Amino acid sequence: MTAPRRGEDATVREIADVLRPLPRLLVTAHVNPDGDAVGSALAALQAYRALGGEARYVQVGPIARTYRFLPGFDAIVAAPEGLDPPPDVLLSLDAASADRVEPVLSAMPAETEVLNVDHHVSNTRFGDRNLVDPEAAATAEVLHAVLRELGAPLTPEVATCLYAGIVTDTGRFGYPGTGPGTHRIAAELLEAGIRPEEVHGPLYRSVPIGLLRLTGALIAALETRLDGRLAWVELTRAACEEAGVAMKDAADLVDIPASVEGVEVAALFRETDRPGKTKVSLRSKGTLRVDRIAVRRGGGGHPAAAGFTADGSVGEVRDPVLREIEEAFADGGR
Ligand code: 5GP
Ligand code: MN
Repeated sequence: MTAPRRGEDATVREIADVLRPLPRLLVTAHVNPDGDAVGSALAALQAYRALGGEARYVQVGPIARTYRFLPGFDAIVAAPEGLDPPPDVLLSLDAASADRVEPVLSAMPAETEVLNVDHHVSNTRFGDRNLVDPEAAATAEVLHAVLRELGAPLTPEVATCLYAGIVTDTGRFGYPGTGPGTHRIAAELLEAGIRPEEVHGPLYRSVPIGLLRLTGALIAALETRLDGRLAWVELTRAACEEAGVAMKDAADLVDIPASVEGVEVAALFRETDRPGKTKVSLRSKGTLRVDRIAVRRGGGGHPAAAGFTADGSVGEVRDPVLREIEEAFADGGR
């Protein structure tokens, strides 16, 4: 693996200037992509093609089936396919650190310019040029500014993908990062001809019955500490198999403990495809910053939503992490 690149912060104009001559572009987004990652990457792909540019979208790892409704989904290429020939420019979207876009990043020769467009406060600036706006509620917002600067047409397809990114990363316009600018962009996307029910419907009103039953099982098994200020659930491969749900499709289950009255910090511990590795998702509804806990453990994210992968089984990882959260509470939310 090549050493992580480190570059300078760039403006929207500078990122657009790199793309304006329409270099051969490869778009990618972080592993275990959420709606903002897939939505932004598909928006970039289709906008660039609409400008007349040559672009591919290569994604690392499986994509949850809930995003299949997004326009352009069938054009996504699964890494390591689609890496040859190398592009002139790699556009990384919604990835806070280099490891989140491996093995795509390492496959790029030195001549390929890496653009890192993101909104995570923990972003490591691994690109040659980095446009990171932690004030933006979604990477789709940051990308929207780049596309506008480029004069890219806001086709219904591009607008739908940007809208999906914003809807998912803002918790349907409800998380603290949602600002007036978020709604202004959403208004523009509605004017561009998107139909909100065609985004919200597939995302939230089309849950496979097995996943809903799995959700029920997790609700029944939910546990709390600290008089209910800390709540968590666990997801095992066995539970997924029993419910007939693919692991990759069991997303957003951390919303279960996070939605409980009185909970300030919520956690989800889930088995991964890699033996002995546990994925931890953290959410905060109060002042405790979960990104700090995630960064200390090699992950990243936002103050109110962060994650990391730890060595050990769910049972081994759970208690030390819960203890660390309890200590952070005791320290006044450090
Ligand atoms: P989730 O818990 O839904 O996977 O992720 C919540 C937030 O934390 C997202 O913004 C996501 O990008 C970030 N995140 C989750 N896991 C990791 C990780 O392992 N490394 C980094 N850098 N960020 C992560
Ligand atoms: Mn995002």
